[in-house]
Amino acid sequence: MVKCYEGAEMKTVNNRIRIAIQKTGRLSEESFRLLAGCGIYVKPRKEQLFCHSDNFPLDLLLVRDDDIPNLVAEGTCDFGIVGTNLLQEKALQNSSDLESNNEIIRYLGFALCRLAIAVPKSFSYQNLSSLKKCRIATSYPAILSDYIKKNKLDIEITTLTGSVEIAPRLGIADGICDLVSTGGTLEANNLREVEVVFKSQAVLIKSPKPFSSEKQRTARLFQNRVEGSELANGSKYIMLHAPKSALSIIVSLLPGAERPTVLELQGDTKRIAIHALCRENIFWETMESLKKAGASSILVLPVEKMLT
Ligand code: ATP
Ligand code: ZN
Repeated sequence: MVKCYEGAEMKTVNNRIRIAIQKTGRLSEESFRLLAGCGIYVKPRKEQLFCHSDNFPLDLLLVRDDDIPNLVAEGTCDFGIVGTNLLQEKALQNSSDLESNNEIIRYLGFALCRLAIAVPKSFSYQNLSSLKKCRIATSYPAILSDYIKKNKLDIEITTLTGSVEIAPRLGIADGICDLVSTGGTLEANNLREVEVVFKSQAVLIKSPKPFSSEKQRTARLFQNRVEGSELANGSKYIMLHAPKSALSIIVSLLPGAERPTVLELQGDTKRIAIHALCRENIFWETMESLKKAGASSILVLPVEKMLT
């Protein structure tokens, strides 16, 4: 809340934004890290579901990830962090598309996983037609049903809310369609991944409900910070020395580089210092190519924050 004076009257204006994040699970840690990267500190006490940040007008609601799309779509929360798997499932349940209930502000690059069909290792699988008349257990019936329709398959869906991977062993399904990242859970259950149905990652979503102008200001500031922090995460600052004559080849080797700063080196007229912000990671291979082109004293530094 901010207090402001209008004539002699004092009004309290609500400029606070509310964000829904997963209380505990695969999205939680990175969601808190994203807020910290934006300089927003929130420390919920144990079992606290609603808490405030003292250094930014933001309140946090800690919930199950399944509730996040609706909380944001209905405007109970202004923002949310959730996987596109859940957004897609809810959207298809309502016969709409991914962004029709909530605006996706940013793909966040964590909680990367895929919704995949897996079958017992003993199943002789050749292609999708091997699944004809099979029962597939999943917690994502709408995404699977859409996939079945698009591929004109004849598959029966068994909807389960959890422990999908044990369905074949229990004899209630012939295969499963579940989220996979490393494949460890599949391996532990003697299953083999055969088809990828949907690729998912965490996204920042925004409510379609209109904001007051005070809240809009906070929302803009928040979005700018998220963008700045994400840009910084994917960027590196590189500094090196090089022969003056190699300037253009060196610049062409730098991935996603902006116009570099070129500085003179004291007491050396043939060599220069080049500093550049690169919007991509710099791998050893690039550094080795730079060295081959005549560069020396190559330093690659992480970028903490960026405002463009
Ligand atoms: P909740 O109690 O909040 O409902 P949950 O059991 O549904 O938790 P998690 O297993 O924590 O959820 O997964 C949350 C989200 O993380 C998923 O919706 C998906 O976007 C992503 N996710 C799920 N499995 C993986 C995985 N193996 N690797 C990476 N991300 C995953
Ligand atoms: Zn969930």
